[in-house]
Amino acid sequence: MAVKKLLPEAASAVLDRISASGRFPHCILLTGGSDNARRYAATHIAAMIECTSSPKPCGKCRDCGKVLGGVHPDVSVIESSGKSATVRLDDLRIIKETAERLPNEGIARVYIIPQAGRIRPEGQNALLKLIEEPPTHVYMILAAEVRATLLPTVLSRLYEINLGAEAAQTLSSKTEKKLEDVCTRAVAALTAKDEFALAAAIAPLAKDRNNITRCAEKLRLVLRDAMTGAEGLSGMPDAAATLAGTYSVPRLLQMRAALETVIQAAARNGNANLLLYLFSSGMFAE
Ligand SMILES: [Zn+2]
Repeated sequence: MAVKKLLPEAASAVLDRISASGRFPHCILLTGGSDNARRYAATHIAAMIECTSSPKPCGKCRDCGKVLGGVHPDVSVIESSGKSATVRLDDLRIIKETAERLPNEGIARVYIIPQAGRIRPEGQNALLKLIEEPPTHVYMILAAEVRATLLPTVLSRLYEINLGAEAAQTLSSKTEKKLEDVCTRAVAALTAKDEFALAAAIAPLAKDRNNITRCAEKLRLVLRDAMTGAEGLSGMPDAAATLAGTYSVPRLLQMRAALETVIQAAARNGNANLLLYLFSSGMFAE
């Protein structure tokens, strides 16, 4: 459907996989891309959740129509308000008032906060309990330009989907294949605990900083799968299983933090060779 075509290929593939896994995360964080792209993705996900036909979202059923038209009674969009354009406790009232109640007519209650980075800390804390233990009929879709604007306690509970640096562009399948090859070699190097092999595996990424970010993001998903035992969220289930068998969860978390550092440095226009150094050395730093 039209909505899907506007999603970056990688994000769309992630959504298809989590949808197929039957374990749709209750609390999602959308990062990267433009504000519009994040809003689009949030609506797309809400339609996936409420759609009563298939493949979800079909874009044709009554529920999809209502979600895409912004009139579904169980899908609430919470915007920032006031001069400071922040999301205040009062703006979050609807969640507090309705989350415990069953949906009116849809499959679930979906709360979308397109500018979650603007939720004041007290508001984030107020949401924490719901994010930690969402009722089975509640889904939260938060979007933020920069993930660092959210409290670590909140962040750690969200399933992040990054829409990439240029949301309008989709990766060619050739680039996608190349990235997958690099990731496969990187995982083999990690499994062998060979830092030099890792440096060699990621060296082809030096030409394009965006590819460094993409590779780091893909590996981050592999690590996530390795830690949660989820199947196929990264599209590389064998790699995830291998890493899970090689490293403890605390080490996997350290690796994820190292990837995070690379992604943030890349966003700050870090030099490609320095990024690659951060990448290979960071993964083995204990
Ligand atoms: Zn539908």
